[in-house]
Amino acid sequence: MAMKIHNYMEDMAADKLEEILSEKDDICKCQKCRFDMIVWALNHLPPKYVVTEKGRMYTKLIEQDVQFRVDIVKELTKAVLRVSRNPSH
Ligand SMILES: [Zn+2]
Repeated sequence: MAMKIHNYMEDMAADKLEEILSEKDDICKCQKCRFDMIVWALNHLPPKYVVTEKGRMYTKLIEQDVQFRVDIVKELTKAVLRVSRNPSH
């Protein structure tokens, strides 16, 4: 049985970033900027480790955590502002 530890915050941050970027059309959305945004946000958020087994994730509790979502959107919004004002390319 192959079990792995995974930081679920990475998946949530990537999903939420796409939502936030879809509402903006005046900033760079290249892959480098997207990665810079996610990395900046992840460095300001606590990790959410889950055990994954055969591709299945045990995330039901996390998905219901409203504060968890609020914090992600808050940090991603800051990250988008910082990176779009000063892209590293
Ligand atoms: Zn860019």
